[in-house]
Amino acid sequence: MSALVDGFGRTIRYLRLSVTDRCDFRCVYCMAEQMTFLPRARVLTLEEMASLCRAFVELGVEKIRLTGGEPLVRRGLASLVEEVGALEGLRDFAMTTNGAGLGKQAAALRAGGLTRLNISLDTLDPARFRALTRTGDLARVLDGIRAARDAGFSRIKLNAVILKGRNDDEILDLVEFARHEQVDISFIEEMPLGQAIGHDRAETFCSSDEVRATIESRHPLVPTTESTLGPSRYFRMADSDSRVGFISPHSHNFCDACNRVRVTAEGRLLLCLGNEHSLDLRGLMRRHPGDLERLKAAIVDAMASKPERHHFSTDGEVQVVRFMNMTGG
Ligand code: SAM
Ligand code: SF4
Repeated sequence: MSALVDGFGRTIRYLRLSVTDRCDFRCVYCMAEQMTFLPRARVLTLEEMASLCRAFVELGVEKIRLTGGEPLVRRGLASLVEEVGALEGLRDFAMTTNGAGLGKQAAALRAGGLTRLNISLDTLDPARFRALTRTGDLARVLDGIRAARDAGFSRIKLNAVILKGRNDDEILDLVEFARHEQVDISFIEEMPLGQAIGHDRAETFCSSDEVRATIESRHPLVPTTESTLGPSRYFRMADSDSRVGFISPHSHNFCDACNRVRVTAEGRLLLCLGNEHSLDLRGLMRRHPGDLERLKAAIVDAMASKPERHHFSTDGEVQVVRFMNMTGG
């Protein structure tokens, strides 16, 4: 039983923890080209992150996802994974990554107890990949996907953000790639987080319904009731094991079933992606080092201020001036 129930009766079972705000990429929808990252002293230490995970699992959280920034650029990640992977009660331990570092790290992470990976991949064209990520090398990410499979990760999922005029002509190619590699794929609607970064979001926005219609022109999609405790809605194709998911914060509001909270790399507990309500857990942990019970009590108290829903719009208006790398996608 989870001890974490919010004011609307929703039980929190899922924690997304950003292990760093840094990244080796600068994806156009996520970061500015020139970024100022947090000074190290403001970022949680690996020990603090491990304590946080322990507190949440003892409170009934069953699923933890490490994200960022790019988790693979955080030094010592493997030791954190080992510690969290050993927590009793944790059923699902996942990470979202750009995949570039998986060639080197996949085996150690799998051995440490990480069970699932989401790997971001928006295009299969090397030049486009470079343009969308500003610094990324597609070949390394493709190697990373295969290294993850070789390391024993099953049900790897690709995440693709589709932007009109940039990669919406690759929807079917990405689905074919997922089928060929025997991985799942989720399509994400762009969210208005952070300031407009080099493109007008009202023009690039591509809804999940549009993406789905494109896929159905070749592969009829059958809805499934499968859930990974996340916001994806999943579909199957008749002739493949790969699942197709849609994450649609705009067109299909998923707040009613929200079962998750986030912790930023600075240790701010965010109760909702689209609102500014937060609690400074780092300050608490540094004032009372090692006091797990106090930490747990603060987390339980915070649940009362989880808002009912978020309010995103597609007209390019920014309501939350926080870059995605700060919150963990
Ligand atoms: N660096 C890792 C990665 O790219 O997978 C993890 C962090 S990243 C912020 C998590 C996910 O958020 C990625 O799949 C990325 O494509 C997505 N993302 C970033 N900015 C976004 C935005 N404005 N709207 C929708 N998805 C976004
Ligand atoms: Fe880095 Fe991920 Fe943001 Fe791209 S989406 S800039 S890989 S954190």
